[in-house]
Amino acid sequence: MENTIKQLKEYLIKHDIKPSTIRLKILEYLLNNRIHPTADDIYKNLLDQIPTLSKTSVYNTLDLFADKGVVKVLSLNEKEARYDINTRLHGHFKCRVCSRVYDFAIPYDVSIPHELKGFDVNDIDINFYGVCQNCKNQGRKS
Ligand SMILES: [Zn+2]
Ligand SMILES: [Zn+2]
Repeated sequence: MENTIKQLKEYLIKHDIKPSTIRLKILEYLLNNRIHPTADDIYKNLLDQIPTLSKTSVYNTLDLFADKGVVKVLSLNEKEARYDINTRLHGHFKCRVCSRVYDFAIPYDVSIPHELKGFDVNDIDINFYGVCQNCKNQGRKS
């Protein structure tokens, strides 16, 4: 599903973000590449289209997106954070061989454990780690 520039602009404005060329390009990349990219992945992929792009502007844009709830920052035992355009609650499986991050659905009614009653819970991460079926079938090991 391709998004029109108009749709992308509206998406940013809805999240209280002023659309700029860089912001629109990064948003478009995230929507079209559901691979949980790092800032570096995004930078390398957009450099052809925006030769003036700097890594700092990618980081700044992602920080802003995270602030405004456009992306979720994933910490998956990695040095570099990954970014997810899907901010609804879902789980992640990180393959230690191919480094791919898979999404999986989790039931809607994840309840707050009774030990945390009275706490404010802002975020929930459910991360699984291991070797994906693809890598297992190919006999690949880390
Ligand atoms: Zn794998
Ligand atoms: Zn995800």
